[in-house]
Amino acid sequence: MSTIAEPAQAIPAFSNEPVADFSRGDKREGMEKALREVHSQLGREYDLLIGGRREKTADKLRSLNPSRPAEVVGIHSKASAALANEAVESAYGYFPQWSATPAETRVEMLLRASAAIRRRKLEFDAWLVYEAGKTWPEADADVSEAIDFCEYYARQMLRLSRPDALVQMPGEKDEMVYLPLGVGVIIPPWNFPLAIMAGMTAAALVAGNTVVIKPSSDTPTIAAKFAEVLLEGGFPAKSFSLLVGSGSVVGDVLVEHPKTRFVAFTGSRDVGLRINELAAKPRKGQVWIKRVVAEMGGKDAIVVDRDADLDSAAKGVLWSAFGYQGQKCSACSRAIVDQAIYDRFLEKLKIGVSELKVGPADQPENYMGPVINEGAQRSILNYIEVGKKEGRLVAGGSVGGSDGYFVQPTVIADVDSKARIFQEEIFGPVLAVTKARDFEHALELANDSEYGLTGAVFSKNPEHIQKARERFFVGNLYINRKCTGAMVGAHPFGGFNMSGTDSKAGGPDYLLQFLQAKSIAEKVS
Ligand code: NAP
Repeated sequence: MSTIAEPAQAIPAFSNEPVADFSRGDKREGMEKALREVHSQLGREYDLLIGGRREKTADKLRSLNPSRPAEVVGIHSKASAALANEAVESAYGYFPQWSATPAETRVEMLLRASAAIRRRKLEFDAWLVYEAGKTWPEADADVSEAIDFCEYYARQMLRLSRPDALVQMPGEKDEMVYLPLGVGVIIPPWNFPLAIMAGMTAAALVAGNTVVIKPSSDTPTIAAKFAEVLLEGGFPAKSFSLLVGSGSVVGDVLVEHPKTRFVAFTGSRDVGLRINELAAKPRKGQVWIKRVVAEMGGKDAIVVDRDADLDSAAKGVLWSAFGYQGQKCSACSRAIVDQAIYDRFLEKLKIGVSELKVGPADQPENYMGPVINEGAQRSILNYIEVGKKEGRLVAGGSVGGSDGYFVQPTVIADVDSKARIFQEEIFGPVLAVTKARDFEHALELANDSEYGLTGAVFSKNPEHIQKARERFFVGNLYINRKCTGAMVGAHPFGGFNMSGTDSKAGGPDYLLQFLQAKSIAEKVS
């Protein structure tokens, strides 16, 4: 891994950040200490950061610990529409200076920021436990991925700053260079509040753009911590703004602003479509077509073939459906199972579900923590009621405890493909199980969705696996493994259809979306 002192040219090849092994005594003690320290900091106040200026507002947003909602994690000044305008203007004003900063210098800043997150890894883990309700391993995976994005995009920017040679016309010097776009608005979700925010921001900044980060209203404290490491890494205070505020108040202002050049969004389908629509309309004084990178929802399926290894298929479905309470865009929410093994599979799944412990995310014995907030809990419970009518309740089916926003891992079997719980993204621990006549039918059912994000197939049949490679229409296909847990560099991530613009985060093409190429031909003889 790179160190702060290393010149950018000498950085070693990318490798994924190892996740913490909390079965080790030292790591467990380290995490317990980090949780105590972070707990003592809960309830602090945070300012907005607008183009290098700290700003307090009277209107405050309080983020809560979803495991114990009486606990306030952070109190944040909330931006108004006027401050959102100011943030874009400020980013626009600083863009000429920032875009002229050599790529190597920007890369070094990003590597220093990444090193700072690595140094504070357990502390960041603890913030994620408290603010996002992530269990220890889920929190650590989020922080590891944030480090990976920074390290990976730093290296990709170095590559793009020295583009491949072009065909040379006789008597000419022909080249192509990549230029940054301008002001980017970064809108992440709460479910990977560090990794996705860090990834979209790192890509935009290292490519030479200035940004306005509008974090999710559920997880603003993690964003404030990320802003600290950007500054620690040496990013100029004017290169980014941190604009905490409600999406419905400041979102449209940021997206519609004529000086906004692009929007990098990750979140729900409806908000993504709205951003895409608003961004498409040119505003007075605007001289470009805004670019929208939008990664949206999923209704991800795992197909279990009749000859599959049922133990690993049941585990794969279990982990994909209930890891982080099913609140991953990649979570398995549909298991499509061949009729020949349907009952046996369900039995194994049921046993697996009965062994999952649900409870506060800071207690390491719990496999599942809370869902993110009261509204999410209500919406998930409503879907469960719908599901009870649309299928047969096999496991779970109600709240998972009285204090926090807990929901039991829930399995509803015999679900028809027209059912709402088969078609709509629930974003919680609810799995629909559907019987398929054969593999052909299973693939048909899997593709019967407006989404196309992740999918997996458990099968030993090479012909079936080949069919899935060719016809399972998803951006990220997994074979004989779970459908969550994409790794930066190995599994470039992004979905088809209503799952988004297929940006392939953590892949070699991602940075191109934050750049524009300029071809230069000079007559030399
Ligand atoms: P969300 O409700 O769409 O919110 C996402 C972000 O958009 C938040 O920062 C939100 O701010 C902001 N926002 C809300 N209204 C806005 C508006 N009118 N204009 C601009 N921004 C606005 O999604 P979420 O609940 O945070 O996240 C869950 C969703 O994200 C799921 O659908 C999941 O599948 C998807 N997701 C997709 C991927 C992927 O890679 N495809 C990855 C992770 C999550 P406020 O919080 O202030 O409302």
